[in-house]
Amino acid sequence: MIDLHSHSTCSDGALPPAELLARAAAVGLRALALTDHDTVAGLEEAAAAARTHGVRLVPGIEFSAAWRSQSIHVLGLWIDPGAPALRAAVAAQLDRRRHRIRAICERLTHKGLPGDRLLAMVEARASLPTRSHLADALVEAGCVRDPRAAFRVHLGRGRAAHVAAEWPALAEIVGWIVAAGGTASLAHPTRYALSATARNALLADFVAAGGRALEIGCGGNAAHHVDACAALARRHGLEATVGSDFHGPRMPWNPLGRLAKLPDGLIPAWRSRGIGGDEDG
Ligand code: AMP
Ligand code: MN
Ligand code: MN
Ligand code: MN
Repeated sequence: MIDLHSHSTCSDGALPPAELLARAAAVGLRALALTDHDTVAGLEEAAAAARTHGVRLVPGIEFSAAWRSQSIHVLGLWIDPGAPALRAAVAAQLDRRRHRIRAICERLTHKGLPGDRLLAMVEARASLPTRSHLADALVEAGCVRDPRAAFRVHLGRGRAAHVAAEWPALAEIVGWIVAAGGTASLAHPTRYALSATARNALLADFVAAGGRALEIGCGGNAAHHVDACAALARRHGLEATVGSDFHGPRMPWNPLGRLAKLPDGLIPAWRSRGIGGDEDG
């Protein structure tokens, strides 16, 4: 099995990179991509642990990008984390994220919540702050019952504390991934609120920018998602990647190594990267 989408404590995952690799070995993965949001900070520790456990590490990242008014996630797989363009990009993303979390906390303060304290909690714990960390802080401060409620009531789109992120354009992000020697794969394509027409326009722009693959299913999601992704991949001439989007044992709906079976006729992106056979993922 090959899992090309996972998170560690270097972004909003629950396990440090070394523990993530140990778990990958325990569930029988042959290869794992660590794809933290907008950071490559965990890749060195992950590579060392991968050697210990006999798992192949695919160096990766999950970039947040802007396309029209949407936030789109692009996986950069087989990247060189030391590539200059990538290093600069990662530093800029971190600045954007810190700025955004501060802006969200200010809005929470205006709503009568302890924004300063929540910000301090996030900054104390997260080297790369995400809304997931803020959702956890809201739970810990007793403001909401669970992280899902934090998104539903405060942090999600259309809520009072929602701050639209100003991510770089999709084409720019794909350019960085390609410049770092990576394969750009558009993550979880059925998760965006887009019409079929807009989704096709997104994929066309992605391909024009140098995008090469599409994530087929995510977390082993339902067959109709897999079929929809496969149809998009065929239509736009994209290779396929598979991944669980594992964030930690607390999100049991996305277990590590739970993968969609690749439909016939799709070209696995890992084949040209020397991970042969086992096309079922
Ligand atoms: P950000 O990249 O800072 O906008 O944070 C987005 C992250 O929050 C995602 O990667 C998910 O891990 C998490 N997330 C988004 N929506 C929800 C939700 N409704 N419930 C729980 N976690 C969510
Ligand atoms: Mn996440
Ligand atoms: Mn994502
Ligand atoms: Mn992810």
